[in-house]
Amino acid sequence: MIQLKNIIKTYENKGQNIEALKELSFDFKKGEITGIIGYSGAGKSTLLRCINLLEVPSSGEVIIDGINLNKLDSKDLRETRKKIGMIFQHFNLMRSRNVAKNIAYPLKGSGLSKKEIEERVDELLDLVGLKDKKYSYPSQLSGGQKQRVGIARALANRPNLILCDEATSALDPETTVSILKLLKKINKELGVTIVLITHQMEVIKEICDSIVVMEDGFIKEEGDVIDIFSRPQAPITKRFLSSIFNTEKINNYLENIVVKPEEKIVKLAYVGSSTEEAYISKISRDYNVEASILFGNIEIIKETPIGNLIIKLGGSEGNIIDTIEYLNKNRIYTEVLKDGKKLI
Ligand code: ADP
Repeated sequence: MIQLKNIIKTYENKGQNIEALKELSFDFKKGEITGIIGYSGAGKSTLLRCINLLEVPSSGEVIIDGINLNKLDSKDLRETRKKIGMIFQHFNLMRSRNVAKNIAYPLKGSGLSKKEIEERVDELLDLVGLKDKKYSYPSQLSGGQKQRVGIARALANRPNLILCDEATSALDPETTVSILKLLKKINKELGVTIVLITHQMEVIKEICDSIVVMEDGFIKEEGDVIDIFSRPQAPITKRFLSSIFNTEKINNYLENIVVKPEEKIVKLAYVGSSTEEAYISKISRDYNVEASILFGNIEIIKETPIGNLIIKLGGSEGNIIDTIEYLNKNRIYTEVLKDGKKLI
């Protein structure tokens, strides 16, 4: 649906070139919520703004539903942009206008009558749960309410795509969850494709179907959120996930654990139904290894359990290798964390 092809974006600043995007291509899937994650300066915001040409790429193409945005004249680009809503970190509401007028703003010049605009605004207020704030001014609203107005305004022209620029970064955790739930509802009920940028894995975990991990102007890893959470490959992705899976704390803890030469500490990552099988008793029985559980945790992502279990495996080298092979074949992804006295 949204195709980015060989996008490069270079900014010029005081005679210096800053390469914010260093040639990247990506296809965003229709109807999905895709989360772009990266640390500050990774290029997320630039990438998001290239999608609706708020930033014009230095080279490369942006193709939405088969239309090459780079080739549109300014009038057609304006029309296409109407079908792309945008939500901002600091809401970008007009302070001098009430909620209804803020939401109605994008409908200016739409050809709708005053009555039709009023009806649309009421419909949107109902959708975002702000019916009683119709005549309030932004200064009278909480952060979460302001963002709800921002979302209603973004939906005014019935877009099929919404771009969210750190939409929840200025909100407290509880409000963040309620705004993410609203975005999920919009995605499910209205079929709106959503692309959001964030520096918080919790946001991705809460609502995204796909994830794009950015660093230094490149896409370092991308894919289905369950695949990436259960088997991250890029070091940057592992770093982002470490807060969720306590990786650093686990490593510190493991340093102090004594492992005999014939033992290995192994991390098992499993997804969904693997959790229902009696693998631990099976490997002890069939592969003649001793398996003791050190600790484990489970995250539920998109209603799918993703578990991490750290176990100590003892036995002959051959038996341990066979055990690991057996687990991997059964989609329990293994990683040896400590081998004898070595931390891996
Ligand atoms: P992120 O959203 O991941 O924090 P940005 O896309 O904002 O990253 O920035 C990527 C890089 O581009 C950074 O080095 C930033 O300083 C630079 N940059 C962004 N916007 C501009 C601009 N308008 N002029 C010059 N440099 C910019």
